[in-house]
Amino acid sequence: MNLDCKHVWEHISEYIDKTVDAELRKDIELHLEHCEICSAILDSTRNILILTADDRTFELPVGYSKRLHQRLKDEIEKSKQEPPVGETK
Ligand SMILES: [Zn+2]
Repeated sequence: MNLDCKHVWEHISEYIDKTVDAELRKDIELHLEHCEICSAILDSTRNILILTADDRTFELPVGYSKRLHQRLKDEIEKSKQEPPVGETK
């Protein structure tokens, strides 16, 4: 029940496609409720898939999963680098 973020990312496209089994789906949903990073990633991943769906093709481009993982890494880096809210110079 305690999923780590990496585990969520590995299954996030299946989660969106609803091809994960019920148990894993529940675990991911629980994790998403408490993890802002994974929620943000889910949102951006969904946007990618919506664009793909608009073309009426569900074939993902070659290297998609590689790029997705790079994107996830970027998101994490970005969220780490964000300055604390209310910071003044
Ligand atoms: Zn997470």
